[in-house]
Amino acid sequence: MDIDITELPTPCYLVDERLFLKNLEILNSIQQRTGCKVLLALKGFSMYSIFPLVSKYLKGVTASSLFEARLGYEEMGKEVHIYAPAYIEEEFDKILNYCDHITFNSFDQWNRFKEKVKSIKSKTISCGIRINPEYSEIATPIYDPCYQYSRLGVTLANFRPEELEGVEGLHFHTMCEQNSDTLERTIRVVDQKFGEYIKKMKWLNFGGGHHITRPDYDIETLVRSIKYFQDKYGVDIYLEPGEAVALDTGYLVAKVLDIVDNAMKIAILDTSAACHMPDVLEMPYRPNIIESGKAGEYAHTYRLGGLTCLAGDIIGDYSFREPLKPGDRLVFCDMAHYTMVKNNMFNGVNLPSIALFNEEEGIKVIRQFGYEDFKTRLS
Ligand SMILES: *Cc1c(COP(=O)(O)O)cnc(C)c1O
Repeated sequence: MDIDITELPTPCYLVDERLFLKNLEILNSIQQRTGCKVLLALKGFSMYSIFPLVSKYLKGVTASSLFEARLGYEEMGKEVHIYAPAYIEEEFDKILNYCDHITFNSFDQWNRFKEKVKSIKSKTISCGIRINPEYSEIATPIYDPCYQYSRLGVTLANFRPEELEGVEGLHFHTMCEQNSDTLERTIRVVDQKFGEYIKKMKWLNFGGGHHITRPDYDIETLVRSIKYFQDKYGVDIYLEPGEAVALDTGYLVAKVLDIVDNAMKIAILDTSAACHMPDVLEMPYRPNIIESGKAGEYAHTYRLGGLTCLAGDIIGDYSFREPLKPGDRLVFCDMAHYTMVKNNMFNGVNLPSIALFNEEEGIKVIRQFGYEDFKTRLS
């Protein structure tokens, strides 16, 4: 990394606008080649101080809740789409204020809310149904929307063609960190099962989980898949990646607080897997750290542990060329997506600060958190 982080408060999420811009340009090239629309899934990345840049490239946002929809509406101001497994009656009028597209998870939900949608005269809101094609290639059940008894989307057996009047789109989301070969196999199934209904639609939403900005991603197959549906059915195509927008664009900078020993060396950091990078435990995965290797690769191996008293608050085992000591800084890579949006103050551990780097202004620390943020979530 070529950014001087010695003055940065720790822990701190640091997003590099140059890397972010690269991702936006890749996503935009797909829009330009195919005419599809790419939305940012706020669930994965909601750092709104960079939305002015995002809005120059992407067509809008997709939200999973009223709050995300409002954030997208107020901070991005372009198309706002929403999908949730169910909508809360008391929130629905507000959702109508903020959203242009609403996707329902069941025909019952659609029937419950469709009169409310139709009653809006000031703008047109386009409604869709999420389908479950019962085809996915995800090994981790908690990330697989098509696992047995999944509540996400309508299966073909439960699809009600007679209730489609007013529905303009279908939505499927069955992927997670995958390449376009998975998409190509998925859309074959979607077409086989739901093609006769897609024919009647204005749009089709391919969901998220497309790892488009990864170096080995096959963009040609994605373009072909988009064009296939555009040509066959004349539908508008939406993609709504979260992770791919912010993939490899940010870091979590942390500091070593102490080194303890229990049959191996263990470094305690001022960050936490449980609080600041929960996917390390949930996914689970091992984040990369700059200038480090696997256990045993370099001379000095440590287990890196977090600041909470959860025994399993462990980030992983890493080795370094020099021994670690209190005050050393460690830079975790790829920490922009599914971090800030998921973090928490378990154990009263403070949240990392949020900073942005660009060439003109250098590092800007945008937000620091404190006791008030901890207290106001409790009573
Ligand atoms: C999670 C999710 C996304 C974004 O997924 P990524 O893996 O971050 O690309 C998009 N759409 C829906 C419906 C989702 O649930």
